[in-house]
Amino acid sequence: METVSTQPKVWRPDSAPAEKRDVWTALKRGLRGRCPRCGEGKLFRAFLKVADHCSVCGQDFTPHRADDLPAYLVIVIVGHIVVPTILWIETDYSPSVPLQLSIYLPFTLILSLLLLQPVKGAVVGVQWALRMHGFDENAPGEISPG
Ligand SMILES: [Zn+2]
Repeated sequence: METVSTQPKVWRPDSAPAEKRDVWTALKRGLRGRCPRCGEGKLFRAFLKVADHCSVCGQDFTPHRADDLPAYLVIVIVGHIVVPTILWIETDYSPSVPLQLSIYLPFTLILSLLLLQPVKGAVVGVQWALRMHGFDENAPGEISPG
């Protein structure tokens, strides 16, 4: 009697033996602009340009697909800060419109620019931790035939 298993090798997320990746730790490291894997190397090579790989641990960052998500998240965050503030100041103090615009427009612009890089870093960190896109070293396609 032959006991060789003929069951095909099927990849599933729970069948992949791999290092544990903590989402919260990776998110915090990404917020600081650091490598989500080691927390030491720089994640960015320019303001919003993600480096090709970590200079410390060599983690490849090219599989990230942040796309427009950081910008959408920044719009949501800044909107939830600026709009209630504007409504509160308008209803309680109603200063002149030119004064309001001279404060709100630069404040919105500066806050958005300050948040873009940390939010993008956090998105890349979460993608890495969840093994999204090409961040999974055991993804199908890597299995050799036979
Ligand atoms: Zn690293």
